[in-house]
Amino acid sequence: MDPTVVLITGCSSGIGLHLAVRLASDRSQSFKVYATLRDLKAQGPLLEAARAKGCPPGSLEILELDVRESESVAAAQACVTEGRVDVLVCNAGRGLFGPLEAHELNTVGAVLDVNVLGTIRMLQAFLPDMKRRHSGRVLVTASVGGLMGLPFHEVYCASKFALEGLCESLAILLPLFGVHVSLIECGAVHTAFYEKLEGGPGGALERADAKTRHLFAHYLRRYQQALSQAQDPEEVTEVFLTAMRAPQPALRYFSTNRFLPLARMRTEDPSGSSYVAAIHREAFSDLQAQEYAKAWAQVPGDPDTASRALIYLPECATPRVASELGWSASDKPGQDKSCYQQKI
Ligand code: NAD
Repeated sequence: MDPTVVLITGCSSGIGLHLAVRLASDRSQSFKVYATLRDLKAQGPLLEAARAKGCPPGSLEILELDVRESESVAAAQACVTEGRVDVLVCNAGRGLFGPLEAHELNTVGAVLDVNVLGTIRMLQAFLPDMKRRHSGRVLVTASVGGLMGLPFHEVYCASKFALEGLCESLAILLPLFGVHVSLIECGAVHTAFYEKLEGGPGGALERADAKTRHLFAHYLRRYQQALSQAQDPEEVTEVFLTAMRAPQPALRYFSTNRFLPLARMRTEDPSGSSYVAAIHREAFSDLQAQEYAKAWAQVPGDPDTASRALIYLPECATPRVASELGWSASDKPGQDKSCYQQKI
């Protein structure tokens, strides 16, 4: 039987590397994997993993492919000796983390180029043949950051939200051509992703104001705690296999159901208020409590000093306290009556 030809982008590390080796070493020996990398000089870890897993000869071929360059995509495509790709995995991606104003515009552009245009370049190159053959699967490595906004991930979320719209739209049309698109929605995964953040973690922080930097430092600590609960890439690659094997693939597969309640909250309250309030509490409420206690102890009733320290009053703030500090309940966000916004 002909092997299932799979082409994967971004295989120098992380999810792409693990998926390539997982498929090439599958006991069924039914996959021929084209593991593509932006730079062949980075193929060492992939080769080592393939050796360690005992990938049979011919099961894995490594090609250079930079998703930012149409010529590079075309050159890799021309190297697929079977003349077809049955499963295309758009996995290459870059992260960007930090206050929005701390990112250079060209850094923002670089992330959008890889994450959004890179995926579109791949689809434009490979979809026409899949449509012609009336057969094909596309898997896109998606993210919780494409399903909900997250503070200090604005650009990354924008890029992953774009993939949701792109793939959801294609998923409506492509089954008429025998082609299926699935998003593999990942939460945090233990990979090199956070070491390879475009512009480093935070970006040019000096461009952000002191309060934003303070909030970012606080969020970073919480974020690092969250990363300690990240999944292993091996666990995530099994979800790709589930999607590949499904007779009628769904649009979305989830590597974890941890963030499903928040995703549901977003759709159940289309105004966005419930979700924004929930994530705001999750990200900043303990900081507000600490800051509030500190400011109140230092300067009871001094709205100027307090307003420098506080963002929102915590839930323990009563209307009396809010009015003593000169803060307005009429500015309260969403429906959260216990949350008062400072007057600046
Ligand atoms: P990673 O950094 O190990 O892998 C990303 C891969 O993309 C690397 O091999 C990198 O070289 C490659 N890449 C970057 N620019 C490229 C380009 N121009 N052309 C070709 N390849 C390029 O991190 P990962 O976690 O394995 O990331 C893979 C995918 O998973 C990304 O799309 C990422 O957004 C997504 N994701 C990761 C996480 C996580 O927590 N690690 C969570 C959700 C989604």
